[in-house]
Amino acid sequence: MTEHYDFVIIGNSAAGLQALRTLRRHNRQVSIALIDREDCPAYSRVLTPYYIGGHITREGLDIVDHSFYEEWGVTPVFGHSVISIDPEKHSLQLADSREISFKKLLIATGAEARTIPAATQRACVLRHMTDAEKLVDLFQGIKSVTAIGAGLVSLPLLSHASNQAEKHLIVGSNRIFSRVVDVETSAILEDQLKAKGLNIHKQNDVKEMVEGKQLKLNLTSGNQLNSDLLIVGKGVTPNIHLAAEAGLDISNGVLIDDKCRSTHPDVYAAGDAAEGLDFITSEKTIQGNWMTAVEQGENAALNMLGIECRYQGSLKNNITEIFGIEVAAIGYCQDDVAEIITSWNSTTGRFRRVFLDEKQRVVGANMVGETNDAGLYYQLISTRSIFPGKQMLTGTANYAQTLFRLE
Ligand SMILES: Cc1cc2nc3c(=O)[nH]c(=O)nc-3n(C[C@H](O)[C@H](O)[C@H](O)COP(=O)(O)OP(=O)(O)OC[C@H]3O[C@@H](n4cnc5c(N)ncnc54)[C@H](O)[C@@H]3O)c2cc1C
Repeated sequence: MTEHYDFVIIGNSAAGLQALRTLRRHNRQVSIALIDREDCPAYSRVLTPYYIGGHITREGLDIVDHSFYEEWGVTPVFGHSVISIDPEKHSLQLADSREISFKKLLIATGAEARTIPAATQRACVLRHMTDAEKLVDLFQGIKSVTAIGAGLVSLPLLSHASNQAEKHLIVGSNRIFSRVVDVETSAILEDQLKAKGLNIHKQNDVKEMVEGKQLKLNLTSGNQLNSDLLIVGKGVTPNIHLAAEAGLDISNGVLIDDKCRSTHPDVYAAGDAAEGLDFITSEKTIQGNWMTAVEQGENAALNMLGIECRYQGSLKNNITEIFGIEVAAIGYCQDDVAEIITSWNSTTGRFRRVFLDEKQRVVGANMVGETNDAGLYYQLISTRSIFPGKQMLTGTANYAQTLFRLE
């Protein structure tokens, strides 16, 4: 028997949840099903390193609780995988053979962590709650921890491991956070992390792993590390196989237009599974951040309801805290812009690097030390504003006045 809904969302996370909220805010009547193979209310993946490190409880990760779905009048179909989509028939199939039909569908299936072939229980990725629970166990009593890949998974996890543990980071490139910050910011951060006791092995990789009392890691440099745990943070692969098999156009992600619509008029995509325009470069990209997933989820939902709304493009937006150091990268942060303005206070550790285009508009910003003005930079970039002046960099600007002038 087929179940019928007006709107079906696959993915109960940043993009899917925002889409659901938007649909309901605008229409109390339509029927909505929200499907996810994880059997729990939506939680924050971003905060999982804090949970693994014992800084917050499991409940602290929850964005909503079980009652939310009933209160918002949505049918949760949790603990079930979608195995195929037929856009022409407007239906999809679950792994237990149930068929669900829709008028409009949102694919918000996110991504999976890339792993490495490793015949050991002591290597672990982090994407889902099952990974987080495994890492909670693996973190117990560790004396040494190694991570491969210097990104938003490895560094926060190393940072939250016990202060008594020896910590190693293996990076393939010649600098850390290379996908997040520019070369100079990377160097500043590297010095600060080394000062906090992190051992960084650049232009390196694990050549061989040998199981023993500890995991022996033979590196391509010839060095050997002994570790109780290997964190694998090698980036993500978007979940696009359902869309590909359904005949939708895909590249790295499900290709979407400026209404977050796929190449089928009744199928939309948002978040880490979707590839849409970057606000600054106008190139197709997957930003892989929470904010983009939320914005695209909202935009998709409005258009699914027939409320025409253009999405102006996504922005890089990473704000995190590692080893007690706040770091943020917003927008386009590459050395090939028209002008870069830098401010560095070695006493306070406050570092700012602002990237301007040829019209003196702010296109990107890197911050280390404090990120309390990150929202202001996000606003300057997304409103294509002219750089207000160097006083902004030193923390002496009156932010309220700057914001007021932007409105
Ligand atoms: C450890 C970690 C730290 C991070 N830190 C940051 C950060 O500091 N800042 C930031 O902006 N972003 C961060 N991110 C990235 C951020 O979490 C993602 O960008 C965001 O979760 C994307 O949301 P999404 O809704 O697109 O997809 P996801 O959150 O990946 O959710 C997709 C959902 O779809 C479900 N699903 C997939 N396929 C199917 C199927 N076939 N059937 C049923 N259900 C399915 C999955 O189970 C999943 O629940 C971090 C991620 C991790 C893992």
